[in-house]
Amino acid sequence: MYDAVIIGGGPAGLATAIMLAQLGHRACVLTQAAATTDKIGESLSPTANPILQQLGVWARFLAGQHRPCFGNQSSWGGPQLDAYDFINDPNGHGWHLDRRLFEQQLKERATALGVAWRAPATLTQALLIDPQSTAAYWQPRQLVCPPPRRAPVV
Ligand SMILES: Cc1cc2nc3c(=O)[nH]c(=O)nc-3n(C[C@H](O)[C@H](O)[C@H](O)COP(=O)(O)OP(=O)(O)OC[C@H]3O[C@@H](n4cnc5c(N)ncnc54)[C@H](O)[C@@H]3O)c2cc1C
Repeated sequence: MYDAVIIGGGPAGLATAIMLAQLGHRACVLTQAAATTDKIGESLSPTANPILQQLGVWARFLAGQHRPCFGNQSSWGGPQLDAYDFINDPNGHGWHLDRRLFEQQLKERATALGVAWRAPATLTQALLIDPQSTAAYWQPRQLVCPPPRRAPVV
């Protein structure tokens, strides 16, 4: 019996699982891919640094192949390119991620904390059932669906 089943083994799901485990809860991550895969999204802003420290992955992260990133340029809905220089950020510089390694590092931390990992597995349906029911379904106290783009449950 888990306190929480988290759908999706990306950064959001793994960070949620780590935080719950650090608070003493029994968490399980259920995710589609059996192994970490290549994904789009290779830069991390400096605001992530204190979060990685809170999650207890900072030393592991620094020991990896991630490279410093000193600013971003982006264009949202128009031709103008806006620049953001991290020299003004109190959290220091950001990172160009080895994305596959990043997820592996989060997964290692979660596993070390006792988080269960069920993959490959896809959540296709969730039922609200009577808490007194003895039906042989998984009945976590919480179902967490952090990946907003493809979350099957609302
Ligand atoms: C083009 C593009 C560029 C981006 N660039 C950046 C960037 O530079 N920096 C940045 O920080 N972010 C970037 N992002 C955002 C990026 O999506 C997030 O950084 C990050 O991937 C979100 O993490 P997540 O854990 O929410 O989702 P994901 O990494 O997508 O993980 C979700 C996981 O849930 C699994 N899943 C989904 N549905 C189910 C289901 N029903 N059952 C079981 N498992 C399921 C998926 O297989 C996946 O493994 C970019 C996004 C895009 C599209």
